[in-house]
Amino acid sequence: MDTGRRIDEWTASHVGEMKADIAKLVSIRSVVGEAEPGAPFGKGPAAALDKAIEMCRGMGFAVRDYDHAAACASFGEGERLLDMLAHLDVVDVGEGWETDPFELVERDGMLYGRGVSDDKGPLVIALYAMRCVKELGLPLKGSVGLIMGTDEESGMRDLPHYFAVEKNAPNTFSPDADFPLYNVEKGHMHGFFSAAWDEQKALPRVESFSGGFRFNVLPSDAEAVVLGLDEKTVREVCEKRAADLKVTYKTETAGGGVKLSVSGLSCHASVPETGVNGITALAELLAALPLADCPSTRAVRSIAKLFPAADCNGAALGVDMADEVSGRLTMVLSILKLDGAGVECTLDSRMPICATEDNCVKPVLAKLENEGFSAKADFSAPHNTPGEGEFVRTLLRCYEEVTGEEGRCCYTGGGTYVHDIEGGVAFGPTFPGFESNIHGNNERMSVEDALKAVRIYARAIAAICGK
Ligand SMILES: [Zn+2]
Repeated sequence: MDTGRRIDEWTASHVGEMKADIAKLVSIRSVVGEAEPGAPFGKGPAAALDKAIEMCRGMGFAVRDYDHAAACASFGEGERLLDMLAHLDVVDVGEGWETDPFELVERDGMLYGRGVSDDKGPLVIALYAMRCVKELGLPLKGSVGLIMGTDEESGMRDLPHYFAVEKNAPNTFSPDADFPLYNVEKGHMHGFFSAAWDEQKALPRVESFSGGFRFNVLPSDAEAVVLGLDEKTVREVCEKRAADLKVTYKTETAGGGVKLSVSGLSCHASVPETGVNGITALAELLAALPLADCPSTRAVRSIAKLFPAADCNGAALGVDMADEVSGRLTMVLSILKLDGAGVECTLDSRMPICATEDNCVKPVLAKLENEGFSAKADFSAPHNTPGEGEFVRTLLRCYEEVTGEEGRCCYTGGGTYVHDIEGGVAFGPTFPGFESNIHGNNERMSVEDALKAVRIYARAIAAICGK
């Protein structure tokens, strides 16, 4: 029997055990917490790591622990040829679950529970792929490792513990995304700009303006209080512009003036074209009001000029750029807070690989400074593993063999677990078009897809580490 068929039969006969192992991990609330001895990211992640280590040892794998921040289960002799990188920590659960998020529930071929898709389920899938290769006795020329981290969701402080001891394998994939494969991740600019002013007296003026709560989320809502104008004047401007800006609005008398609130549509900052930014829409409405010339008016009008609501690609900042490998630059004004003392803003930009500090970060800062803001930015370089390399081609071939679908390389504006690992890619295990709802309620994974992913990963291990 050929290797592929042996892998497929082994996988089909281990589905029950695999679900039971996913259930063990899902039952542990491994949300980041207070550091304690032996639990660098809190009790929950440490308990999940204990359980995973026990599971790996039970299957006969050697396991090494790195300060209990991460552990690695490995198999095979000789040089490490492949690392798989997955994580055991989870994002906390919000409202709206139809099942207990810390109990694995199966309904109509779907598994439900926190972490089934991000990333406990995928970790177990990779583990079973490794177990499959071991139990089938496939001959290997090198070794494979499953690195299990416990802090992917809150800063990736786990990986330095591992890489302080080990070097990365020549090939790494992370089962913490979608198929087919992500080899390119955009760079990231996290910018801050501000202006301060003395107490303002001029009227009419914007007395306060705020929106946004997290640098990497495009906010739907923003609100402002305008002094010295009547509600009718404010409404007239809104009536004219709100539809174009794709927001709904509300005015009321409050705070000694007119309070204006707008509502758009929230989304992740890496895909701003899917949302409607409440801050930039409100800035445009405020900029169109007949305000007195004073510092808050100048700040609001500068913001409306540099971050027009319809521009989520940095065109007004002069940095709208794109390339074939990694797509187009995105620019999101994600947090704004203006009050009697000044204004502070945060921006989030995802930059294609053609963008550099010189042609992108510096020009943005210069434009902001030119408008009277003080500005600074952190910049993290893009990640780019060549799509033509042997490793990527091998992974895509395994994907194609199992699915019959065409494998191709993709880019993402979001950072994955391999962002700082040379030669790393994100590879599955969610299939294109499937809504797993990670970080949200009713997180899910299809059992059939999970089995397909085991078959793909086992083939990949055999191809990369096999004789
Ligand atoms: Zn994840």
